[in-house]
Amino acid sequence: MKVHEYQARALLAEAGVPVPPSEVVETVEQAGAAYEKLQGRVVVKAQVFAGGRGKAGFVKLCDSVEQVREAAGFMLTNRMVSKQTGPAGVPVRKLLIASAVEIDSEYYAAVVVDRARRRPVVMVSREGGVEIEEVAARNPGAIFKQWLHPHLSLLHFQTAQLVAALGLTDKEQAQAAGRVLRGLVDVFYKYDCSLAEINPLVRTKAGQIVAIDAKLNFDDNAVFRHPRLQEMFDPTEENPNELRAKQYDLSYIALDGNIGCLVNGAGLAMSTMDLIKLHGGEPANFLDVGGSVTAEGATEAFRIILSDPNVKGILVNIFGGIAKCDTIAEAVVAAAKEVGFTVPVVVRLEGTNVERARQMLQEAKIPQIITATDLTDAAKKVCAQVA
Ligand code: GDP
Ligand code: MN
Repeated sequence: MKVHEYQARALLAEAGVPVPPSEVVETVEQAGAAYEKLQGRVVVKAQVFAGGRGKAGFVKLCDSVEQVREAAGFMLTNRMVSKQTGPAGVPVRKLLIASAVEIDSEYYAAVVVDRARRRPVVMVSREGGVEIEEVAARNPGAIFKQWLHPHLSLLHFQTAQLVAALGLTDKEQAQAAGRVLRGLVDVFYKYDCSLAEINPLVRTKAGQIVAIDAKLNFDDNAVFRHPRLQEMFDPTEENPNELRAKQYDLSYIALDGNIGCLVNGAGLAMSTMDLIKLHGGEPANFLDVGGSVTAEGATEAFRIILSDPNVKGILVNIFGGIAKCDTIAEAVVAAAKEVGFTVPVVVRLEGTNVERARQMLQEAKIPQIITATDLTDAAKKVCAQVA
């Protein structure tokens, strides 16, 4: 799960990270009113789940109410296209109007999970404000890292080394940066983040250390532990199919290919996708209907897969262990009737009640259904259908 910058700022502020005062608005009028409160120089920022806003023209410094209204009007009526959005861009529904700061230096600070080392890593860089992937590619030595013991959080000597790596020698500034890093790490642990990032963290001309952009990603499987995050959830920013899938306990991730996959079990779903790729196809989604799938759940799964206009064929791959093959066959037949198959559906079933399931599929006489004998056969057949 992701949240908007303004929400990330609020959580960081609660953890003691200094952030400039700001207001969230949804209209040009509200933007003007926010300026009247904040006064001076402000920055108008689109609140969307994508970075690269600065370069896209969706972060604007403004010195008057007229400028604020103009920037707000532009952002609320244009889709934002950046490196991270794809060419279609994303609509902007909310803006953050924040008091601007005078920047002396921009730094980078983040905590992410390092999968290879199986622990969180704190990363800092003096090259802030630019995308960290760019820094990593061009000058990996410019990123300094400290790995955290999963149970110990940030230790004092680590804070000191990170702050030193930022080149902050002034005592007060160093202490302030240390507090920011501890706050960032605290938020990372407290809310089960997969990413907590401040980019840029700035030193202002007056010598203050302030976070002026923030990004938090959370582990979806931990969100149930955090009512605070559930309140922050913004369905308008999510993939609608992924939302529908959640309601039926289906794990669905949309991908770019044209072969829809309906599989039970995450491991089987992964190997199914591997086999599709091996035979030259591209999966349109990852979909795990789960071990205890019901006919309604499976029907909904077909509905979700078929609502993707890129899907040119479907591969159903079910191992009947906890779920019975005949339940799935029943769902396939029901979905064919209810949803209507507009593309070929290759079905590979194995396991409990498979004989009965095969018989049900045969008797249903659905012209789009192609049966497969094993996984490789199924992958080859579906790839041939969409080729
Ligand atoms: P992003 O492009 O989506 O990461 O958006 P950011 O919030 O990081 O803003 C992009 C850039 O705009 C920053 O790196 C700064 O250079 C600039 N910027 C943002 N806020 C301020 C501000 O308060 N004052 C000044 N001078 N520049 C700002
Ligand atoms: Mn940024």
